[in-house]
Amino acid sequence: MAETASQALPLDGPLFDDSAPSVRPPQGTVTPHGTLAVYEPGSGKLVGEVRVSTPAPVREAAVSARLAQMEGSGRPLRDREAILLAFKQLLLDRAEEVGDLIVRENGKTKNEALFMEVLPVADLTHYFAKHARKILRDEKLPLHMFPHKKSYLRYYPRGVIGIISPWNYPFSIPGGDVVMSLLAGNGVVLKPSEFTPLIAEKLRSLLEEAGVPRGLVQVVHGRGDVGAALIQSGVNMIVFTGSVATGRKVNVAAAEQMIPCVLELGGKDPAIVLDDADLETTARKVAWGAFANSGQTCASVERVYVHESVAKPFTDRVVGIAKGLRQGEPNRHDVDVGAMTTQMQVDIVRRHLEDAKARGAKVLAGGEIKVTLDGARFVQPTVLTDVTQDMAIVRDETFGPMLPILTFRTEEEAVRLANDSPYGLSAYVFTRDRERADRVANQLLAGTVMHNDALYTHAAPETPWGGVKASGLGRVHGKHGLRDLSEVRHVNLERFNFPAFWYYPYGAKGYRLGRKVYGTLIGNGLGARLRALFGR
Ligand code: NDP
Repeated sequence: MAETASQALPLDGPLFDDSAPSVRPPQGTVTPHGTLAVYEPGSGKLVGEVRVSTPAPVREAAVSARLAQMEGSGRPLRDREAILLAFKQLLLDRAEEVGDLIVRENGKTKNEALFMEVLPVADLTHYFAKHARKILRDEKLPLHMFPHKKSYLRYYPRGVIGIISPWNYPFSIPGGDVVMSLLAGNGVVLKPSEFTPLIAEKLRSLLEEAGVPRGLVQVVHGRGDVGAALIQSGVNMIVFTGSVATGRKVNVAAAEQMIPCVLELGGKDPAIVLDDADLETTARKVAWGAFANSGQTCASVERVYVHESVAKPFTDRVVGIAKGLRQGEPNRHDVDVGAMTTQMQVDIVRRHLEDAKARGAKVLAGGEIKVTLDGARFVQPTVLTDVTQDMAIVRDETFGPMLPILTFRTEEEAVRLANDSPYGLSAYVFTRDRERADRVANQLLAGTVMHNDALYTHAAPETPWGGVKASGLGRVHGKHGLRDLSEVRHVNLERFNFPAFWYYPYGAKGYRLGRKVYGTLIGNGLGARLRALFGR
C-alpha cells in the first residue's frame, strides 16, 4: 500500500451542515423541466441529465420492444451471437471511455469500474455468445412409462423482459441481464436506478452500434413509479435487482400481472475465518470484500466471525490494511476507495455506526464520514470490534465500508451465527483445509459459498447468482439464468400407436391391465414386480 493513510480524507472545503440550505435539489429529484440530473459522487460536479418517462411512454417502450422482437424472431441464434460478439469487442476497445462514465456517475474507483463492471460484461457476453446454443438447444426427455412417445423440451423467447436495476453496479448488473435476454431471443425494456441513468443509455447505444436492431432495447428513466409502470406495461417477465423492501412490492405486482420475476435482493454476507486460515491472504481478501465499491455491493463481507485463537492477529492485519487504503476522488489510479453513490446510503451507514458506538463497539480504523457542501460524500473504511449479534451493524444491510468483527469458539457456533440472519445471498469461509471448507459450506444457508475468496463469482458467468431467504428468488447468470429468460415448452411426439388401457371404453379388463403394467414397471424389487405380472 502506498503511503497516504485513509485516516485523513483528501477532501477540502466545508463539511455538510444539515441545517444549511441545500445548494441543489436532493439527488433523484425530477427537475421542473422533467429531467433527472446526475452529479459526480466524488466531486459534486454535474455529469448530465436524462428525460424522465411517464407511464404512457413506458407502455410505448414495451410495445416498440415487442414489435422489434417479433420482427427479428425468425432470425437464427448465430446472428444474435455475432452482434453480441461485436458488442464485446466494442467494450474491450472502449473500456476506458465506459469505465470513466461509471466512475463519474457512481463514484467507484477506476479499477473497480474496469474489473467489476466493464470487463465482466465483456466476458459474460463472450461466454454466453459461445455457449448459448448448447444451453438452449432442444433437450431430449425419454419417458420411462411411455416408450411409444418421444418428448423434448424447447426453449422459446419469452417476448419482452423488463429489467429493473440498482445504482451500485449500474453497468454490470443490467449489462449481464440485457445481453442474456437478447441471446435468449427477447426484447428488453430497462429501467435503471434514478441515480445512474446515463450509463444505461451508454449500454443501449453501444449495443445498437454493435448491430442490435433499433428499438429492441429500450431504456426508460425515472423513479420507482416508472419501475412500477414497467411491471404493468405488458412485459413477459421482470428481472429485478434491488432492496428487499422494493423486491417484495415487485413480487406482488408481478403476481398481479401473472408474469414471472427473478428477484436479486440484499444481503448481510458473513465471512467465517477458521483457526487454520492463512491470515495474511485472508485479511487482504476480507478487507477487499468489505471495502470494494465502498462496501456498496450486495455480496459485501458485512460481518466477520473469526476463531478466538486467531482473532487478534487477524484483526491487526485487517486494521493495518484499512488504515493504509487511499481514499479520494475516484477518477485517479492512486485511489483505493471511492465515494458513496447516494446520500441516502450515507445516512444508513451513519445510523449503524452511531448505534454500534453508542452500544459499546470500538472503532479500530476509520469511522469518519465526510460530506461536502459541493455534494461529494465519502465514508472511511472502518473496522469495529466489541460488536454483538443484535446490533444493527451486524443484523441489517449496511451497504457501506463497515467491517464488524466477532469471535467464535467452535465451528458449530460459527455456522449458527452466520446463519442467524434473514438474508442468504453469499457466505465465505477461510481455511487451509478444503474438506473443512466443504463441510462448513454445506451447512451455510446462502445462494453462493466461496472458499478463501469473496464477491468475485458474479464475474464468473457460468455460475448462477442469487440468494435464499430474504435475499431473493431465482437466479441470474449460469445456464439456469439463461434458460429462465426463455419459456420452456414440452413437445410430445408419437413413435407408434399404442392402444393403451386408459382410453374409452372403460372396463374391468383395462383396469386390471393398468394395475399390472404399473406394478410390473415400478414395483419395489423383483418379487413385487413378478407378483404384479403373474398375480390376479
Ligand atoms: P431499490 O430497491 O431502492 O431500487 C432498485 C430499483 O427498483 C431502482 O431502479 C428503483 O428505482 C426501482 N424501484 C423503486 N421502487 C419501485 C417499485 N415500486 N416498483 C418497481 N421498481 C421500483 O434498491 P437500490 O437501487 O437502493 O439498490 C441497492 C439494493 O440492491 C441493496 O439492497 C443491494 O443489496 C441490492 N442488490 C442486490 C444484488 C443481488 O444480486 N442480489 C446486486 C446489487 C444490489 P429508483 O432508483 O429510481 O428508485
